[in-house]
Amino acid sequence: MQHTLKAVDHEASEWTPGSWQGRTALQQPTYEDTAELRESLYRLGELPPLVTSWEVLALKERLAEAQNGERFLLQGGDCAESFADCTSPIISNRLKVLLQMSLVLVHGMKKPVLRVGRFAGQYAKPRSADTETRDDVTLPAFRGDLVNSPEFTPAARRADPQRLIKAHARSAMTMNFVRALIDGGFADLHHPEYWDLAWVEHSPLAAEYRRMVGSIGDSLRFMETLAGQSISSYSRVDFYTSHEALLLHYEEALTRRVPRQDGWFNLSTHFPWIGMRTAALDGAHTEYFRGIRNPIAVKVGPTVKPDDLLRLIDVLNPNEEPGRLTLIHRMGNAQIGTALQPLLEAVKREGRRVLWVADPMHGNTESTSNGFKTRRFENIAGELDKAFDIHAATGTRLGGVHLELTGEDVTECLGGARDLVEQDLQRAYKSMVDPRLNYEQSLELAMLIVRKSGG
Ligand code: PEP
Ligand code: MN
Repeated sequence: MQHTLKAVDHEASEWTPGSWQGRTALQQPTYEDTAELRESLYRLGELPPLVTSWEVLALKERLAEAQNGERFLLQGGDCAESFADCTSPIISNRLKVLLQMSLVLVHGMKKPVLRVGRFAGQYAKPRSADTETRDDVTLPAFRGDLVNSPEFTPAARRADPQRLIKAHARSAMTMNFVRALIDGGFADLHHPEYWDLAWVEHSPLAAEYRRMVGSIGDSLRFMETLAGQSISSYSRVDFYTSHEALLLHYEEALTRRVPRQDGWFNLSTHFPWIGMRTAALDGAHTEYFRGIRNPIAVKVGPTVKPDDLLRLIDVLNPNEEPGRLTLIHRMGNAQIGTALQPLLEAVKREGRRVLWVADPMHGNTESTSNGFKTRRFENIAGELDKAFDIHAATGTRLGGVHLELTGEDVTECLGGARDLVEQDLQRAYKSMVDPRLNYEQSLELAMLIVRKSGG
């Protein structure tokens, strides 16, 4: 069935990497010095890309497999990376948590896991207000390290075009380190002990995790005995990158034409997504995304209407290309029960091909009485639990999860195996933006996913 596009006739208009500039672009900073911005964008356009079109297309094929139920997507990382956190322990600890979670998922779900980090470029943040006022002083909001700096001074909050170049460099350093770790054998399933974090021994979940590691080791040895050799596909895993492609000048500068593939790719990341606040059908982000060949995702919140979602699918994946479009629902534990099913039903009724992924984080943010932005583990787990049930009841498939997590021993989300309470938040609250699951809470969630998916 064809849907008429009310707002904009996307098909009729020519797409270019910069055609988004003719549309309303929400959540963009204001650069005072446009000559300096142009200069930075020019330099960015000359720098090498961070990923290749081959990798991007390989990921698209794997996402198509996830759509068919042959893989499960684990997408996770910080809410926002910061330049200061571009360090060896922070990058490797984040990788360790993701690898441990994926081991739990592989073991329990008995299917391959597709690992995608929210890293190597997750430097721009949407904000609820353009400005922030403290003690009668109003300054531009902090929009992530790609744009400005969090300190509350006019100099720090100025949108600085040099940061575009720095973000590219930090992304490249992160990517380089992750690639080197993976290629060097860090992700070898034969050696899950490489991923132990210092405090695993004291975790209430340690015993269950150790049991899984032991059982995977046994199965690997058994299969290798049968095969008569070590199975090299277990020695390395693939890792892909993703970020919210929010700051469109930056994304445009890293959009490259790949002649061999006959098309344009965003080569700043494998898998960019459109955030909930910028997913308008006639907005600049939708215009930019429709023309790139990457697999793409869109965050879908509780106010989205089924017909609008169908129109967005028409624009972003008009040819029903497998693996092209992922929809990440982020409803909130209180709303998922009513908000999700109508969307699932509409997409199913129209026979549209998407990968459904649950983000149980962003609909569950709240403020505590002592002034912290937090999330309750029970709400995160509750939303995920319901997401599996609602998909099952509708006859659709939940093919992955999207999480904010860190390998650091932070206390940002309440509850979990150690039952963190409000007073614990001040001990190690490090996030500049949204509260993340710590290592234990992440593993606990992976175990819950396994139980829900029948593993
Ligand atoms: C995010 O992923 O950090 C985010 C801002 O999410 P959303 O667009 O779903 O609110
Ligand atoms: Mn966030």
